[in-house]
Amino acid sequence: MKMRQDAKATLVVGVALVGWAVFGGLVDLANPFMGTDNTKDLSCGNLYPAIARPWGMNCWTPQTGPAGQGWLYDWKDRKILGFHQTHQPSPWIGDYGQFSLMPTVGRPVFAEKDRASWFSHKTETGAPHDYRVYLADHDVAVELTPTERAARFRVTYPQTNAPNFVVDALDMGSSIFVDAAHRRVTGVSRKTFVRGNEKMLGAKPLDCHFVLEFDHPFADVRVWNGKALVPGVSFAGKHTGAVLTFPATKRGEQVNVRVASSFISAEQALRNLEETGTDGFDALRARGAAAWNDALGRLAVEGGSETDRRKFYTCLYRSLLFPRQLHEYDAEGRPYHCSPYGKGPQPGYYYCDTGFWDTFRALFPLITWLYPERVTEIMEGFGHCLDESGWIPEWSAPYHRNCMIGQNSASVIADAFFAGCLSTNLAHRLYAGLVKATAATNPVCISVGRVGYEEYNRLGYVARDGITGGRQSAARTLEYAYADACIARMGAALGRPAAEVERHRARSGNWRNLFHPQHRLACGRALDGSWDPDFSPIRWGYDFTEGTPLHYTWSVFQDIPGLCAAMGGARAFEDRLDSVFALPPHFDGSFFGGCTHEIREMFVAGFGQYAHGNQPIQHMIYLYDWCGAWPKAQTWARAAMDRLYHPTPNGYCGDEDNGQTSAWFVWSALGMYPVSPISGEYALGAPLFDRIDVKLPKGKRLVLQAKGAADHAVFASTERNGTRLTRPFVLRADLLKGGMLVWKAH
Ligand code: CA
Repeated sequence: MKMRQDAKATLVVGVALVGWAVFGGLVDLANPFMGTDNTKDLSCGNLYPAIARPWGMNCWTPQTGPAGQGWLYDWKDRKILGFHQTHQPSPWIGDYGQFSLMPTVGRPVFAEKDRASWFSHKTETGAPHDYRVYLADHDVAVELTPTERAARFRVTYPQTNAPNFVVDALDMGSSIFVDAAHRRVTGVSRKTFVRGNEKMLGAKPLDCHFVLEFDHPFADVRVWNGKALVPGVSFAGKHTGAVLTFPATKRGEQVNVRVASSFISAEQALRNLEETGTDGFDALRARGAAAWNDALGRLAVEGGSETDRRKFYTCLYRSLLFPRQLHEYDAEGRPYHCSPYGKGPQPGYYYCDTGFWDTFRALFPLITWLYPERVTEIMEGFGHCLDESGWIPEWSAPYHRNCMIGQNSASVIADAFFAGCLSTNLAHRLYAGLVKATAATNPVCISVGRVGYEEYNRLGYVARDGITGGRQSAARTLEYAYADACIARMGAALGRPAAEVERHRARSGNWRNLFHPQHRLACGRALDGSWDPDFSPIRWGYDFTEGTPLHYTWSVFQDIPGLCAAMGGARAFEDRLDSVFALPPHFDGSFFGGCTHEIREMFVAGFGQYAHGNQPIQHMIYLYDWCGAWPKAQTWARAAMDRLYHPTPNGYCGDEDNGQTSAWFVWSALGMYPVSPISGEYALGAPLFDRIDVKLPKGKRLVLQAKGAADHAVFASTERNGTRLTRPFVLRADLLKGGMLVWKAH
């Protein structure tokens, strides 16, 4: 019996796996399972295997956890409950635009627990464009390959009188209609899962109109009425769906399914279905591989280990998913989008599902440098968000979300502006939106505008006993000051009035107001000017956000030389940087009533107080470049690349966070990092590979050469086009000219 089962599995999976590695290329080096092995108290990425196109509107993932909680897929799970269309940017944010599909055999069933099937990672494969698995309970193999707004499934059934296919429209108001004559199923899902009691500004869940077309007729159709499967072809209610039964299949018979969705209309969903083409599953999968190879191929690495190459291309793939498209294309090929702010269909691009608190640091600078045509569309979308909601986004999914702090959109927008991704008109509109938010808050959603702006603008800091009541007041101050630097530089370039530019330039120095002269670290301060009497460099939370004074003080992106001087000069600055790695990983988690997952991710990492698993400190290693200790930047960046990233399910060291933690790796592997994203200057480290060919915009080529990189070399100098650099920094404008950047051992 055992052998017979194995033989069956081999036969069916053999069919499904034909073609594996046929297309090849860089896409095969990206592992979508990296970061999928998590628990709520220890994140190793908190990712699901996102099967998608670059920046695609819809992602697909196998679903091993119930819909309606944040962890749709966990590597440790043993059963698959469905194949899920998802838009979830993070388990801490939640999902929208969801529905689930699942083949079964035999008696028709619908509920997740009834349709679930055992599976094994040994008969599961994944690439960014290509997912395949064998569902043991049903003896069925499933393959899926997506487009930006649609997907194809190929389902290989056994010999059975009842090959079924479940369409689950989920449970927050859904409808279903089965059109047997056209072998078509349409419906609407309103499932929107928002974690906690978070409010959304203008929140009205977007309807997700979906359509499926099959190449087999339906012998039998049942709909789910919320309690039971009943004969019928349509239903609308809290929770509905359908189970289709095809005519009896022969062993190995394949059913092809095309599926698409739209946030605009059922008619648009049908138009989106055309993305799947008419030339079949294998052709679409080949186009998916080509799309990824084109995007990943802007960076071609040579040398290094296979493990390093897998890490690199997995991190690059994760850097090219968010912010994702929300727009769709009309019959004339023009982009339009359903406004998340209740304004119905609107013309133009729209991108969402990103939080700038994370992604302003490395992710946006990466795509602004290497994929500027995409950033141009993203910026147009931010303009639409401003027009439709009154605010530039800070955390959007797809609405403004009440999450995180700061005004980091200023960094993202100013960087794109200086990179030439904004028209003059759009630059002025977005700039005005930034300035408006420096003196405003929104009562529904406090991630837009500046909480505590009255205190900040009057006192020069957000007070710990003021409007925030001691929550994140110092972190807000530091981030507002950086945002002011971005606004001042952009305002000056746009020719704004001198007094306005000077106001923001002066406020960009507000970090000094919280720099404690004895502790020489950022410290919370009260309305009367007194310092936090319980200051501790290793105390998480309180005046800081998901970190400590030792993590947050480095957030003076706009004036690292000023921070260096305030700390007592280059030697004291270097000693303080050293101390972050040298101190034991002790912590005070009293603000949270104990240890949060971010704290745990720090103390298990073996890097002392260096908390790479969260974002505030991720640029810190490169600050060694400002105090004459470039070799230490090289050494620690390599240590972090080697020890904190693995191309495995437990391969990240905290929440990956929409490309940010991955983009850190991509930059570091290139031997540089955008410490101050708006400076147009990158701090140097050391490349991970002997040679990297960079395809630049406008057809230019750049070669990064670092002979001996694979042997963990620490380099002594760099040359750009034959001229030795006098400092370990390089300008984006110079890199964009192309040529050679060479790291030398002497
Ligand atoms: Ca984080």
